[in-house]
Amino acid sequence: MSKRFTDTELFENKWFRKLPIKYKCLWHYLCGKCDGSGVWKVDFDLAEFLLGEHFDENEAFSKFEGRVRRITEDKWWIVDFIKFQYGCLSLASKPHKYVMKIAESHGLMGELESMGVVVSQSEHKGTVRKRVTEKVRLQVYSDDCYKCQYCLEHKDHAELVIDHIIPVSKGGDSSRGNLITACVKCNSIKWDNTPEELMSKIERENLVPLIGLPTVLHRLSKGLDTLKEKDKEKDKEKDKEKDKEKEPKTDPDFEQFYKAYPKKKAKVDALKAWKQVKGMTPPIADIVAAVEAQKKTEDWRKDGGQFIPLPATWLRGGRWDDEIQQTKTAPEKHYFN
Ligand SMILES: [Zn+2]
Repeated sequence: MSKRFTDTELFENKWFRKLPIKYKCLWHYLCGKCDGSGVWKVDFDLAEFLLGEHFDENEAFSKFEGRVRRITEDKWWIVDFIKFQYGCLSLASKPHKYVMKIAESHGLMGELESMGVVVSQSEHKGTVRKRVTEKVRLQVYSDDCYKCQYCLEHKDHAELVIDHIIPVSKGGDSSRGNLITACVKCNSIKWDNTPEELMSKIERENLVPLIGLPTVLHRLSKGLDTLKEKDKEKDKEKDKEKDKEKEPKTDPDFEQFYKAYPKKKAKVDALKAWKQVKGMTPPIADIVAAVEAQKKTEDWRKDGGQFIPLPATWLRGGRWDDEIQQTKTAPEKHYFN
């Protein structure tokens, strides 16, 4: 038998006070029967059998307004369960890790993060996502004038949550542009939907329209435009970098030297050497002239030019200054008939 905390002030709570007695029982039943993350596998047959009362599922759901969410057809989630039982979940705590594992199996981690219930970054997903800090949370509330942006009603701090306009599960992040103030009730209606999906859900299920939703949609498209602009800027920067890469890394003088030099080996090293000696070299014309002169020497001509130094060695050695020993060049052979 596992043990759980119970709220000693529950009976003073206005919402709870108004509940018919059988729903008070049902609430206790749910809080006891849910799993470690507050998820109850909906089974009214069993609940009715054990509590000896008949329940209407939809009525029960509406009685627990906003405190319970349908995460799938047959799963209800007690939204504040984790916060109440464990406070903030931290990866540093083994029991918390276990709770996170269960929560993750229900796809609740993103929601817990947006509620500020998970302390550590979501390493469990292999991604590092910025947590919504208390400072950011208060800033968002204040920017939105403590008003739920979906129903546009002013609420107490305790009834407000931070909503990720694009849910974390659908790629939304915790950047400022994706955060908005929502009341517990609207947030439970929005659940894991994008604003567009929420719009269709409201139409499909004939729910009371959320008067702030069009503005949220507008805000989103504006935010997306800004993101697109940012992407364009990023692309431009990338193009610039590419252009830089395209820029010749060599210089024309070097190319002229290399063209003249008879041994074309290790060009990269030669260029490196060129850059090292640059500033000490005579004008390029003199270098080319030196190369041309040395080409004619015996040393460079003999044995198929195997004694010609590598261009890098030649440059590093400052060989343009070499004295040229005019050796007799092999007489050119002329054939006469
Ligand atoms: Zn609301």
